[in-house]
Amino acid sequence: MSEYLRPVFGRTPTLGYVSSQVLLDAGVVNRCRRRVHLEHDPNMADVPKAPTDPAGAQRMADAQAHRRTVADRLARGLGAQWAEVPAGESAADRERVTLALLSAGAPYVWGGLLPADPLGGRRGGVELLVRSPYGGYVPLIVVRHKVSDPGSGARTSPLSLPYPGGARSDPLRKVRPQPRDQLRLAHATRLLQASGFAATGRATGGVIGMDADVVLWHDLDAPTWPNGRTALSEYDARFADRLAVARAARAGADPLARPSRIVECRTCPWWQTCESQLRDTRDVSLVVRGEDATALRGVGVSTVDKLAELDPRAEPPVPLVGMPFEDSVLLARAWLRGMNLVRRVERIDVPRADVEVDVDMESFGDSGAYLWGCWLSGADVDEGQGYRAFATWEPLPTEDEGRSFGEFWTWLTGIRVRARARGLSFRAYCYNELAENRWMLSSAERFAGQPGVPTVAEVKSFIRSGQWVDLFGIVRDQFLCANGKGLKTIAPAAGFHWRDPEAGGENSMRWYRDAVGLDGDEPQPDQRRRLLEYNEDDVMATWTLRGWMSSEGAHELPFAGDL
Ligand code: SF4
Repeated sequence: MSEYLRPVFGRTPTLGYVSSQVLLDAGVVNRCRRRVHLEHDPNMADVPKAPTDPAGAQRMADAQAHRRTVADRLARGLGAQWAEVPAGESAADRERVTLALLSAGAPYVWGGLLPADPLGGRRGGVELLVRSPYGGYVPLIVVRHKVSDPGSGARTSPLSLPYPGGARSDPLRKVRPQPRDQLRLAHATRLLQASGFAATGRATGGVIGMDADVVLWHDLDAPTWPNGRTALSEYDARFADRLAVARAARAGADPLARPSRIVECRTCPWWQTCESQLRDTRDVSLVVRGEDATALRGVGVSTVDKLAELDPRAEPPVPLVGMPFEDSVLLARAWLRGMNLVRRVERIDVPRADVEVDVDMESFGDSGAYLWGCWLSGADVDEGQGYRAFATWEPLPTEDEGRSFGEFWTWLTGIRVRARARGLSFRAYCYNELAENRWMLSSAERFAGQPGVPTVAEVKSFIRSGQWVDLFGIVRDQFLCANGKGLKTIAPAAGFHWRDPEAGGENSMRWYRDAVGLDGDEPQPDQRRRLLEYNEDDVMATWTLRGWMSSEGAHELPFAGDL
């Protein structure tokens, strides 16, 4: 136990912990304003909400594990200077211990919960509080994303010197803009100021990122934000707005935030509630989301009906950023007919071939690509039609990834060669080539020389050839879609449905962890089967989609020009 913890237990200092008032945490400044309202409206307390999605829960668990790893490393390096607030205690106890440690002048306090600030309406903690040699503390957070890029000029200090005084201009790193990190630091700074424990001088905060190799220091008073704003002034403006929304909701006053569809709605637990309200009011955001909906409402185009009445070829009443104005009007007209998908073109054109292969790759973060799935169809080339998978089940990163990629490439090349030898045309298809291209190129580079692995030039030549077709580009150019153009959204229009009700990229990350025993557990064969089935369904989805787009079925969709 740290020397700073010994005298703490048993003390009962007076606390500012207040539970009945509106107290907002740091995340509120990035949260949907309507969500802030709903979370503070007493009438919404018992309304059913969607549970946290498993992928979100996994992300939280991963972040927690990362923080623990970094904490253990820092604690080993800092020895007796390190103090830790026990995580399992009640909020009041954690606050009490934090206050005592800060009052005792502990140099480094991990896991602190700062005294709530009822006047300012905020509460929260921070991973590490670092004592300044001039008195007071600066906040330091630990995050599970990249915080710098190759370059120069970032202010960093080694992990062995996790305080601003140890920072130097880094010749190898530049700051990767991560606004959320800076806003979190600003929140902690305001809490430190309210409790009288903030360091004097310029507001500063540190971040340890995914690589956990250095501490990156942000000057929160520097005018690095748009229009000369600082991280602190941006935070203050956003926080004041959210606080007003929350207080109005708590008081039962006129809501300061109405629902409007944004990207976050997809994973928001309140979507059912908001969607029903949006449908009742026929809100324009059902067709154009985000700032475009706000802009249209601002000029009186508040409903889908009003948007549909406009002339799609006329000048837009207000500039839109998310989609062309003409598309928005046509989508509104389609929505009124109960359609979320319409044709942009009279005849849909999908390049086809005698021999066709649908390809889908599964990767795990930046660690590697562990599975290349293929669905062979078309003319006979002396190879069984249907699905095959080229996979490694050794936990990534592993050299065995090169073996599976080499086998995939050898098989694909074999099909191409045999098709050519028989005078048959060949094409391979994927949905959104960015990921497949990235990992084909990266695998060729990383596993150069291994059996079957092509050169980077060979991969580039294939990618540039007409034999590699990105269906996503074809869908984007030939359809108008109100709900996005992802394969999971589009393929059901072609009549395809995934067998697994939880099928999705984020969930597949969780399955992968279990499949290979990434967390130190026994590998789970049933999760491997699940991943293979999911991958097989993905390639069957593109195969089905292509067939549908080439058929009359897709031409039964309304043509935008007729709306
Ligand atoms: S569903 Fe959308 S509008 Fe409603 S609270 Fe969530 S993010 Fe906000």
